[in-house]
Amino acid sequence: SGKLYVVGTPIGNLGDFSPRALETLQNCSFIAAEDTRVTLKLLNRFEIKKPLVSYYEHNIRERGQEILARILAGEDCAVVTDAGMPCISDPGEDLVRLCAENGVETVVVPGPSAAVSALAVSGLPTARFSFEGFLSVKRTSRMEHLEAVREDPRTLIFYEAPHKLVSTLADMLEAFGDRRIALARELTKVHEEVRRTTLAGAAAHYAENPPRGEFVLIVEGAPPKKTEPPDFREAVELTLELAAQ
Ligand code: SAM
Repeated sequence: SGKLYVVGTPIGNLGDFSPRALETLQNCSFIAAEDTRVTLKLLNRFEIKKPLVSYYEHNIRERGQEILARILAGEDCAVVTDAGMPCISDPGEDLVRLCAENGVETVVVPGPSAAVSALAVSGLPTARFSFEGFLSVKRTSRMEHLEAVREDPRTLIFYEAPHKLVSTLADMLEAFGDRRIALARELTKVHEEVRRTTLAGAAAHYAENPPRGEFVLIVEGAPPKKTEPPDFREAVELTLELAAQ
């Protein structure tokens, strides 16, 4: 049997395409790509010629079986997405599971991921974090999602599209109250920017300046719960009274 290579590609800057990723794409039998046009551009840029099959959200089931069959027959497959690490809010997870269930060896060729890159420059606590991916487009599901993590003390990481950013910030402000947030935009690209502010500050800024480009939102976790200190007064008074008798 062949192997499945899970290959990270740049999130903007082509300089982040690793020599090992390049070598893996050169040496595999075929590439499973989220959008073959996007991957073809990358391959052309690096003068790699390789058969491509599309593997995306809507053909995961049938295409997954076809890819597995080819790997079992001896071919090596590299799975890539449009940008960043496959499987992270991107196709790949099902293919990895399918391969694992069928005894196919999986190999990771790590590359950048927007989530971890944004966290690293956020300036917010990094020791514990929770990746929340994209919020649903449906308001009720969005609010349920936000409510579910409201008390989470860990730093929260969200992906968001620019046209939804303003309403997402309003929803977060409603669900969490004001908190610190770092908005990492266009990482590794020409207009890379990290805005470190609060939810209210960000909402005000983007109401005036329509957001453009790709964003990761790094939101501070819930403040530690204030536990009421136990009230010993009565017990102390009673003890003193008894002692005085
Ligand atoms: N699998 C990818 C990864 O590991 O980075 C993420 C794919 S997800 C479909 C795309 C989202 O990632 C965007 O909507 C944005 O939130 C974030 N993203 C991707 N590239 C980015 C960049 N250069 N700067 C900031 N955010 C980025």
